[in-house]
Amino acid sequence: MATDLKIAASKIASVNPATGEVLREFESASEAEVHAAVSRAKAAQESWASLGVRKRIAILREFQRLLHHKKSEVAQLVTREAGKPYVEALLTEVLVVLDAARFLIENAYQLLQDEPVPHGNLAMKTKSGRVLREPYGVIGIISPWNYPFSIPATESLAALVAGNAVVLKPSEFTSLTAIELAAMLHQAGVPEEVFQVLPGDGVTGAVMTNAAIDKLVFTGSVPTGRRIAQNAAARLLPVVLELGGKDPMLVLDDADIEIASRGAVWGAFVNAGQACLSVERCYVHRSLYEPFLKACVRHTQELRVGNGMDPDTDLGPLIHQRQLLNVEAQVNDARAQGARVLIGGKRLPEVGENFYAPTVLADVTSEMRIMRQETFGPVLPVMAYENDDEAVRLANDSEYGLAASVWTRDRARGEALARRIQAGTVMVNDVVSCFGISEAPHGGVKASGNGRSHGRYGLEEMVRIKYLDSDRLPGMEKIWWYGYGEAFSRQMEGLLDFQFARGIRKRLRGAVRAAGALRGK
Ligand code: NAD
Repeated sequence: MATDLKIAASKIASVNPATGEVLREFESASEAEVHAAVSRAKAAQESWASLGVRKRIAILREFQRLLHHKKSEVAQLVTREAGKPYVEALLTEVLVVLDAARFLIENAYQLLQDEPVPHGNLAMKTKSGRVLREPYGVIGIISPWNYPFSIPATESLAALVAGNAVVLKPSEFTSLTAIELAAMLHQAGVPEEVFQVLPGDGVTGAVMTNAAIDKLVFTGSVPTGRRIAQNAAARLLPVVLELGGKDPMLVLDDADIEIASRGAVWGAFVNAGQACLSVERCYVHRSLYEPFLKACVRHTQELRVGNGMDPDTDLGPLIHQRQLLNVEAQVNDARAQGARVLIGGKRLPEVGENFYAPTVLADVTSEMRIMRQETFGPVLPVMAYENDDEAVRLANDSEYGLAASVWTRDRARGEALARRIQAGTVMVNDVVSCFGISEAPHGGVKASGNGRSHGRYGLEEMVRIKYLDSDRLPGMEKIWWYGYGEAFSRQMEGLLDFQFARGIRKRLRGAVRAAGALRGK
């Protein structure tokens, strides 16, 4: 499909955010290249689908073996390209993908089988129905830089096992990781046309939205998600939108301060706060507020900021200067409006130009940008509340709804509160780790997007549902095929009474009247 977007070949680069070293430069895929890649994928998809699920699962198993073998190499590449500590790359990227593959290897065959649909309506009893799950064709995936391996890989594995071809447009900051994913998939047996990577920036992404893909799975920010949704609406392209978050953490009056503060510090600073599921707003019961803040500061003091390749590093850099400036502006704005900076609140030029100190803020208010806009940096803003109802109201007072957490010694109380929070996921006594549960659906409500990735619901996004109906009595005319008139109306009233009238007598009388229709045919 043609687009009026004309793109000049633009250059993008993978840069190590810890050192500034340029790892590799790329030319963004041109408009013609995007369309050509999608056409190749379309042509190759049919034979990929006709391989059958079992053979595709065998290829996935080989991919899993290769990835396990190359686990350190892949994690190091992610650390060099995205900055996170090596051990985080190992756990949140490599392990997440190994386990996503495990889930599909164990479950995809059964989940993709035809599903019988028993009919309750008596008039339809002569029919045999099944739900079929068919691949869309070509799935376009547009992914962000913050989990450059686990996000595109989990989505791609689900798309591929369901029989789709995939064209992936990774973030312009993390092309190398996507290329490594492609290399492993190809080595495992996925044909090159069935999984293609198109390095490029937002313009390349916009072209892909207009190309002849059959569904788009987008993960990224809310503003880009909005643009994509508008674009997709014009051509009724189905889209999954995995967007940003402003996740609240509620620390109830019976919470274990030591545990909750450790959870808050990890949840706010993992991946230097650049996780869609980061703790971005922390609400603590007034009775625990000061001791909780003290504990957070104590744990933050222990953190070591540096190059993610150093095994002692807890926090790496932000991805680039733009991200750092955004975080700095939000912290400065909060400070100017009366927030207390208990620790951090500054750049760390002695470590490198993209490093920002892990920051704990007290006395923030709901009106501050730091409590409303996604920060996506190592900042933990903490606010006090008075009672459970206020905590729920504050948690829900956001345009976002990705995830949330509730911290309490009383699990039942935590779960009851969790039900009142508007979010795609609520964790009781943990944060962020839901992303590593392959069975758990991942996705948001409100501006955090729609659709799901991961597990059964993520696999369902990759298939079209077709209902197949076969009549068991093909030689018989259906009673509703005309012959309308007074008598027929009475007979059909009888049919309704037979099925829905209260009382056995009324139902039997209905059956007798309805039987007339059968005699008439
Ligand atoms: P982004 O929106 O800037 O970019 C995401 C991707 O979209 C990139 O590949 C980019 O090149 C592409 N893009 C940019 N403009 C485009 C356009 N007009 N049309 C098509 N594609 C376009 O986001 P980012 O900075 O890469 O990632 C950070 C954001 O992603 C944060 O908001 C974070 O919360 C969100 N995120 C969400 C999830 C989730 O699962 N919900 C997971 C990770 C990240």
